[in-house]
Amino acid sequence: MIPISEALEIIRRETFSLDAETIDLENSVGRVLAENIEADMDLPPFDRSQMDGFAVKTADTSKLPASLKIIGESVAGKGFDRKMKTGEAVRIMTGARLPDGADAVQKVELTKEKNGFVEILEAVKTAQNINRQASEITKGAQVFSQGEIINEQMIAALASFGYAKLKVFRQPKIAILSTGSEIVEIGEAPQKDQIRNSNSMMLKIFAKNAGAEAEILPQVHDDFETLKQKIAAAVGLDSGLKNSEIRNPKSKILIITGGVSVGDYDFTKPALRELGAEIFFEKVSLKPGKPTVFARLNDVLIFGLPGNPVSVAVTFFLFVRPAILQMQSAKNCKPKKGYAVCSDKIKGAKERDSFLPVSLSTNEKGSLMIESLRFSGSSNFIAFAHADALVFVPQGKNLAKNDVAEILFL
Ligand code: AMP
Ligand code: MG
Repeated sequence: MIPISEALEIIRRETFSLDAETIDLENSVGRVLAENIEADMDLPPFDRSQMDGFAVKTADTSKLPASLKIIGESVAGKGFDRKMKTGEAVRIMTGARLPDGADAVQKVELTKEKNGFVEILEAVKTAQNINRQASEITKGAQVFSQGEIINEQMIAALASFGYAKLKVFRQPKIAILSTGSEIVEIGEAPQKDQIRNSNSMMLKIFAKNAGAEAEILPQVHDDFETLKQKIAAAVGLDSGLKNSEIRNPKSKILIITGGVSVGDYDFTKPALRELGAEIFFEKVSLKPGKPTVFARLNDVLIFGLPGNPVSVAVTFFLFVRPAILQMQSAKNCKPKKGYAVCSDKIKGAKERDSFLPVSLSTNEKGSLMIESLRFSGSSNFIAFAHADALVFVPQGKNLAKNDVAEILFL
């Protein structure tokens, strides 16, 4: 049994990174930037009015009421191109360019218009109601850097600097293989002794959200020969396989769920061994997730995760997600860490570190509180549906009410 930190180090060491490709901005959310993003223009590109009103010279409003001659207008998309002189004003709309010679805008509510003149009812200060050129960003400045994961909030910035297409790192391809003679497809009605396959779809979604392209393989029964065949096919060892999509196994991860413990029908490890896989570890000091396996076969990284859906979720999050992000050269591959206060006691495990799913809430004192989920065991994925984070309980310890605990945000 190895500590979690060592398992992570091994995964980091064995994981390769992929090259870059160019994609449309529209499809970029969740992908990892393979280039630095620069502002190709000042923003705002000119001194810009924040209000509908009149562009004026501050000095002209020192004596009130000031009556100024309206000499034209500046609208968004078409500014006023002559220079404004003393005693003049230009009607201006929100977002329009400030005319030369003007140094402030008075909003329309504080003006009165009559016979081609405008009366300014309140004095203005220099730069009032103006966004200065380049006050948001200067041309050439770096906006985002290589390795950042693109999120929805970044799209407007990328669009405004002309990144209709952009360079991102290629997506790892992930194949998901669930094992278990008791497992039937989601659309099927389980018969006696059967349950539905909840792992494959969950993993597909997790993998996609981590930036991978995920594919669910047909699930396999607990049969040694079949499992061996299916693993061989999934890693591209079976050349006779017609529907093999493994053209570039280097971009691949295979996740197998179930069959990694020591039961009579747990064939994942024996199958991997017989196929000649290099097994890097097969037991981690982690609850849930002790029998997690990490191996490589034909250049495909293989994660064997324990079958319980909650164990699958926890081990995916701790081990597989960082590998997926590393393959895409993401800057932050590790889960986001934080601290929160226990609302109640949380029991750890004697011989293993625990990462237990919990929900989070805030209280009126502004503290982030940990609410434990009522687990009846690591198979309780109904409780897991409400999880926001994993709480860390060190080996041999328990957490007491009001203890501050380390959490990983899901
Ligand atoms: P195993 O790791 O194969 O011993 O499985 C541990 C537990 O997880 C058993 O109760 C299995 O029935 C359950 N399990 C395994 N695979 C799946 C799956 N794909 N979906 C839902 N439950 C599963
Ligand atoms: Mg099983």
